[in-house]
Amino acid sequence: MIENSVKNILEKVKSAHTLDRSEVVALLNFGGEELIRAADETRRQYVGDGIYIRALVEFSNYCTRTCFYCGLRAENNKIHRYRMNPDEIISTAKMVSEKGFRTIVLQSGEDCGFKIDELCRIVEEIKKNDIAVTLSIGEKSFDEYKMLKSAGADRFLLRIETTNKELYQKYHPKMSFKNRLRCLDDLRTLGYEVGTGSLIGLEGQTVGMIADDILFFKKINVDMIGIGVFIPHPDTPLGVTAAGDFELARRAVAVTRLLLPDINIPATTAMETLKPNGRGLVLEAGANVVMLNAAENEEYKKEYSIYPDKAGINDSLDLSLTKLKKTLVPIDRNILISKGFRADNKAV
Ligand code: SAH
Repeated sequence: MIENSVKNILEKVKSAHTLDRSEVVALLNFGGEELIRAADETRRQYVGDGIYIRALVEFSNYCTRTCFYCGLRAENNKIHRYRMNPDEIISTAKMVSEKGFRTIVLQSGEDCGFKIDELCRIVEEIKKNDIAVTLSIGEKSFDEYKMLKSAGADRFLLRIETTNKELYQKYHPKMSFKNRLRCLDDLRTLGYEVGTGSLIGLEGQTVGMIADDILFFKKINVDMIGIGVFIPHPDTPLGVTAAGDFELARRAVAVTRLLLPDINIPATTAMETLKPNGRGLVLEAGANVVMLNAAENEEYKKEYSIYPDKAGINDSLDLSLTKLKKTLVPIDRNILISKGFRADNKAV
């Protein structure tokens, strides 16, 4: 009975790329290997076998926020805070560009130590290399997003984390769900390629809520979706709760690919951290992007501890690239040297 209905739902979504809520819930609950295979086929058909690689620079772990799950939260006084200086960020960008990366992702906590003019100058300098710039620096005003866009920023990542308002408010004290939506809206209005996504496995989150997240991604038609899985950090209020379910998060990736066939979907580091070869398994379930940490200073990588024991934390950028290539051989995938915009997918 269930097998039949999963089969019918997959038939529908493979051609129409739409589903209602109960169908998304059914796939998240009962989708097995056929779901994964259907997502993999759709990925091949719409975005091809290439993997876009992005160089990730975590340039500051200062944060004014107190998100319940995140080790960078302002109230965690056990971590040592660091802030790269602008020249260090710019020279790292030059280095990754010389290594062949065509996208750099600049990520940080919500650090008020960087003034907007300074961030703009960093983006302008980096754009002198032939490289796309993605920012992941949290909530800003419309005018600030506008200045960063004018400075040359191409893309922005801001996960909604959960679309359930009550759950959002519970885990993000003094933040507002409405403002998060406003940010995503402003970014789209300003012409950024926009990425969002959710965190799977927060205590109190139901499969229905995850279905709502995925339908929200479809509704706003974003360009990238990063689906992470919750990993408890001991120095946070959620430190003693259970980690998220890898398989459920993987099914969420697969359903997202089926509903938004041409977007970019990273195989996130959290998935690799939770399960050996987690990244390979997610690349087989619809993902087509990998972000590799470009930090040259080992200390920075260790201190950017949003969750503990991050996969590949001791690997240099060169070693991460070598390991990624090994993961790609058995699944017949290859690295693409490309800025990797959503629009590039249509050309594949
Ligand atoms: N300050 C930026 C960047 C946040 S860190 C912003 O607000 O967008 C990037 C992502 O790490 C977050 O969006 C969140 O989904 C994820 N994250 C934080 N804590 C985590 C944890 N304990 N387990 C798994 N992922 C986590």
